[in-house]
Amino acid sequence: MDARILDGNAIRDRVLAELASEIAGSARQGVVPGLAAVLVGDDPASRIYVRNKIRACNRIGAFSETIRLPAKTSTAELLALVQELNGRDDIDGILVQLPLPRDVDAQQVLCSVDPEKDVDGFHPVNVGRLASGQPGMVPCTPRGLIEILKRSAIPIKGRHAVIVGRSNIVGKPAAMLLLAEHATVTICHSRTRDLPAVCRRADILVAALGRPAMLTRKYIREGAVVLDVGISRLRDEAEVGRLLAHAPNRLARFRKTGSALVGDVHPGHVREVASAFTPVPGGVGPLTIAMLMSNTLEAAKRRRQPSYDATAFP
Ligand code: NDP
Repeated sequence: MDARILDGNAIRDRVLAELASEIAGSARQGVVPGLAAVLVGDDPASRIYVRNKIRACNRIGAFSETIRLPAKTSTAELLALVQELNGRDDIDGILVQLPLPRDVDAQQVLCSVDPEKDVDGFHPVNVGRLASGQPGMVPCTPRGLIEILKRSAIPIKGRHAVIVGRSNIVGKPAAMLLLAEHATVTICHSRTRDLPAVCRRADILVAALGRPAMLTRKYIREGAVVLDVGISRLRDEAEVGRLLAHAPNRLARFRKTGSALVGDVHPGHVREVASAFTPVPGGVGPLTIAMLMSNTLEAAKRRRQPSYDATAFP
């Protein structure tokens, strides 16, 4: 089967262009959405994530501020900072980059963010709103999955969606959103019996388990739509050679850089069996940042435009 590639970079560019045009309009009325990113410690991956989020803010004309704190910052110090950001009128979204250092009570810090500024959608108030179908801040990666399906004109209603992974940041909220779109939803995890058979029932298969290339052809029904959330960096030459045998350009890049990114779905098998799929990289990942920008604009509209009707979101 000649599978359609769902190009996350192209969809992200369209979303960001729409947001930029909306922000240009609101800026003329003096409203510029603002995002504060809190980065604790010097985890290299976190630094890159925050940098990319700030770049996206710049690209759409939003205000952004990065607050960098040393790894030895205490829970009390972080709580005080979040309180200050909660009270600032120019900040609509607060992002506390995870993981936080081990000694910090991450749950307490995340719960201290004003739910109206919780652009990651991790606050229990927003989790409850999502579960009960009320408008709230929705986690970015699951929102990105729905955005990809809708913008690719892939129907959701009545389809059977199988999600592998039940994390609070991806699997569970993805299930809620797909349910809200009238899919029939099955959630799988590490104790699911006969995972390949359950996955093969999926019209839409969401892979969010963090196991590189684990979902091979026996997990994918012929003609399914496959959304691959997983991101793993591989360095083993034999393994990369096996997984990317179909992609000589990527193998050449691996030989230069010494690493390659893969998702949770076997990149060679998925293109042979699925009708459409998100590649890794360049599929789900780019939408996560675009949805963060969308959440920040949404938070600004709700907080600063009293007549704004939030029920249409997302
Ligand atoms: P977690 O580790 O929090 O959750 C993984 C889930 O997968 C768990 O529910 C676990 O089951 C399940 N799982 C693990 N192994 C298996 C297995 N062998 N069979 C069935 N289920 C299994 O991961 P996250 O949800 O945070 O992330 C998942 C992946 O998505 C990672 O690769 C991560 O890097 C990536 N990611 C990508 C993002 C993006 O923007 N593209 C954003 C966020 C994450 P159990 O609950 O039983 O342990």
